[in-house]
Amino acid sequence: MEPKVNFMIERTLVIFKPDCMQKNLAGMVMERFTKVGLSLIACKMMRLQESLLQEHYDFLMDKPFFPNIVSYMMECPVLVLVLSGENAIAVTRDLLGPTDSSTAPKGTIRGDFGQDKSRNVAHASDSQEAAAKEIARFFTKYEIFD
Ligand code: ADP
Repeated sequence: MEPKVNFMIERTLVIFKPDCMQKNLAGMVMERFTKVGLSLIACKMMRLQESLLQEHYDFLMDKPFFPNIVSYMMECPVLVLVLSGENAIAVTRDLLGPTDSSTAPKGTIRGDFGQDKSRNVAHASDSQEAAAKEIARFFTKYEIFD
């Protein structure tokens, strides 16, 4: 009998954060994702507004570092993208590594290129619910090409 393969074609939202853009790492980070077979299906450069960031990070609103996240994410324009592929949400998060870049394993994007808990290169959706909400927050259906 054929082994049962458990996979789903998913979409996930990724943001190349200001430290990624300032260090000119966008190409290298993108390659980490495309190398494992994820496809780029939407992409735009944006200067993020405070109101949009407050919505995007609303679950951190009560944290003392919340104002720092908002100001950091507004330091310069960022690249926002949608990746698609088998188990794209988990695959992207695994490649990214844990939140704190200073302890993230080498070989992960954050471990190789990030600085700390805040300046950690990229955001990636952490669940199917979050991905659906976040993709709709940044893109219309006409801006997604698959
Ligand atoms: P992740 O980005 O790994 O999913 P979280 O959802 O917990 O992490 O946090 C969202 C973002 O908020 C982080 O990527 C980081 O930029 C910022 N952040 C989280 N925790 C801290 C912290 N303790 N100090 C500063 N910034 C933080």
